Amino acid sequence: MARIPVVDQESCISCEVCTHICPEVFRMTGGEGHEHTHGEHKSEVYNPTGAPEAIIEQAMDACPAACIYWQD
Ligand code: SF4
Repeated sequence: MARIPVVDQESCISCEVCTHICPEVFRMTGGEGHEHTHGEHKSEVYNPTGAPEAIIEQAMDACPAACIYWQD
């Protein structure tokens, strides 16, 4: 089974790097229908199996806050 990436939104600094590297998996919250974010733009995983693991890992490695990780 494919591993599932998760974003620690507490640590996310909203740089949008992951959404540029891997838009099939990550997107920024804060749009319509995301009231739980209180208007903050944070990365979220909306399609965990949307890209090969190698691409997701690139986003993990590039994240300046190191807040993307594989769920156990
Ligand atoms: S790369 Fe990391 S810090 Fe930047 S938006 Fe994505 S999860 Fe947040």
